[in-house]
Amino acid sequence: MDITKLDDKQLLESTKNLIKQEQKLLSSILLHLQEIERRKLYCDLGYSSLYDYCLKELRYGPQQSWRRINAMRMLKKLPEIKSSIENGSLTLSSINLASNLFKEAEIDNKADQLQIISGMKMTTQIECEEKIFQIKKKLGILKPLKKSFIRNITPDLLRMHVNLSKETFEKLQKVKNLMKEDDVDKILSRLFDNFIIQSIESKRENRNFQASNSRYISRKVKEIVYKRAGGKCENCHSTDRLEYEHKIPFAKGGSNDESNIQLFCANCNKRKAIRDFGLNKMDYYFSSYS
Ligand SMILES: [Zn+2]
Repeated sequence: MDITKLDDKQLLESTKNLIKQEQKLLSSILLHLQEIERRKLYCDLGYSSLYDYCLKELRYGPQQSWRRINAMRMLKKLPEIKSSIENGSLTLSSINLASNLFKEAEIDNKADQLQIISGMKMTTQIECEEKIFQIKKKLGILKPLKKSFIRNITPDLLRMHVNLSKETFEKLQKVKNLMKEDDVDKILSRLFDNFIIQSIESKRENRNFQASNSRYISRKVKEIVYKRAGGKCENCHSTDRLEYEHKIPFAKGGSNDESNIQLFCANCNKRKAIRDFGLNKMDYYFSSYS
């Protein structure tokens, strides 16, 4: 279609039709993302999270990815809003404003959420922001802002303010020099990870977890595997939420020997479980334990 040949009325109508298609597509894309997340399919492509997949595979920008993932989660919790997304009365922007409000005001109740979000239908961004301003004012969470020390930067990245003593800070500087690493974020993440893994392990050992027929993986095996994997997920190379995983599942006779253990991030581990045991079984398991 040569749009330069359309008369004014046709051009305006054609634009409106395209927007309608775009709105339907958005709803469909969100449902696709939801199903990809359920299957953890992005792990097969070497990504550690849905966000990573949106960013690198689908080539959305950070903000675009984040907004779609937020909207996808909202649609998952409130399937009632599907038709409003499809007909364009709820936009990505209003859904995200609502999602931020729910987090900030800790509004978890589905009926409350639906009521608030229905008031955001057919609003412009400015109108929607104004409504949120009024809700926050009513809830008394407007001023002063909550002393939030942890803030979401992306779905996978948090910003945390930490108060350190001068002494601890000097120790951190020493570690920085020893590790020849300038990136303090990386140093702190590694320190936290190591400390957390060690704490969990010693707790497990104290509980005498090591029965002869248990799925217990010894600290020695973990050390070997961790070193072998270079401290990264052996599937997607993420360093986030690392777990030790049986290549041949323990339930299917796999051993606790280092040759059968690998280091995976939590999402790749879940994806592997889906492949080993099937989506239906793991859906039930994840929903029971998450
Ligand atoms: Zn991974």
